[in-house]
Amino acid sequence: MSRIAVLSGDGVGPEICSRAVEVLSSVCRDFVFTEGLIGGAAIDAYGCPLPEETIRLCRESDGILLGAVGGPRWDREPSHRRPEKALLGLRKEFELFANLRPIVTHAPLISSSPLRKEIVAEGIDILIIRELNGGIYYGPRERKEDPSGCVATDTEIYTTGEIERIAHTAFRMARKRKGKVTSVDKANVLESSRLWRETLESIAGEYPDVILEHMYVDNCAMQIIQDPSRFDVIVTNNMFGDILSDEASVITGSIGMLPSASIGTGTFGLYEPVHGSAPDIAGKDTANPIAAILSAAMMLRVSFGMMKEARAIEEAVRLVLEKGYRTRDIMSDGCIQVGTEEMGDLIRRNIVAD
Ligand code: NAD
Repeated sequence: MSRIAVLSGDGVGPEICSRAVEVLSSVCRDFVFTEGLIGGAAIDAYGCPLPEETIRLCRESDGILLGAVGGPRWDREPSHRRPEKALLGLRKEFELFANLRPIVTHAPLISSSPLRKEIVAEGIDILIIRELNGGIYYGPRERKEDPSGCVATDTEIYTTGEIERIAHTAFRMARKRKGKVTSVDKANVLESSRLWRETLESIAGEYPDVILEHMYVDNCAMQIIQDPSRFDVIVTNNMFGDILSDEASVITGSIGMLPSASIGTGTFGLYEPVHGSAPDIAGKDTANPIAAILSAAMMLRVSFGMMKEARAIEEAVRLVLEKGYRTRDIMSDGCIQVGTEEMGDLIRRNIVAD
């Protein structure tokens, strides 16, 4: 029996998480799901976005399924009590240093991509691996007055150990895919990027079956749009990964399609859609639950090694899209529009037992 902490959070979080839990229950009866509060919902109940009760629940679980946090109601909270602080807290608490974001185009949705059809026609399958525990988002920061005015400083810090562990994750993942790692940095300018590049080079020899290439982040931002099919695994630091993965996400047509996983060295992981709490559509039964459902499939594959069940869910998503069912965000002419709940039901009913 495996225990899963379900942290639905705010906005559309509860609607999409329920659909993902239903799908997981339909492929495996051995999961025990326990709900915990996070984000704005936890601020309302406990006065903080990541209560000790929730951390304890996660510690006693084998994996975390998360919806999304945040919303206008909590926008005036002081920065240490913002809902989004809970995500940083979970990543640090469980040393989830690698954020995996698959960017995959689904054939029936090719027309929803803003890129020209011939660029996406052969199918895009990129895995972006973003370092999640270090870099400029965690380095020392300061704001001070001096005679010239206000001076603000943020600091990018990486240690060899932090770079090595994310590099090993990237090489191992590439081995199971097409065997190519593109390491993205700004080594022509930044010292931290030079260390990043040297460290990647120093361990590449342990993976002779994987090709390593280096690319500057500005070039990568162009290549993702011009020639996305050239990439297999992209590995990069916290800030570059944040920006590049959002850029790449639009290729697939809707943010409502994109799953993610945050993992450390073991099998424990946090699985969540890439999108936020979408307060503009919360409670309207219009949110696309596919990102959450595909995140659940990632959980099966990465944390529980349940490849067959993960594939069955992904295949059900493909079938439902092929049959023309769409939520509002991916709707196009000639398709059948369905709500969040019906999309979840359709996916569940299209799972084919092996
Ligand atoms: P968002 O991702 O919530 O929404 C952006 C747009 O995408 C909106 O138009 C929304 O309706 C649409 N959208 C998002 N998910 C969708 C889905 N499943 N189906 C259909 N359409 C979908 O980003 P935002 O509006 O910038 O942020 C809203 C709140 O979410 C903010 O408080 C922000 O801080 C928070 N946020 C949380 C996370 C997280 O929990 N991981 C990530 C990003 C933003």
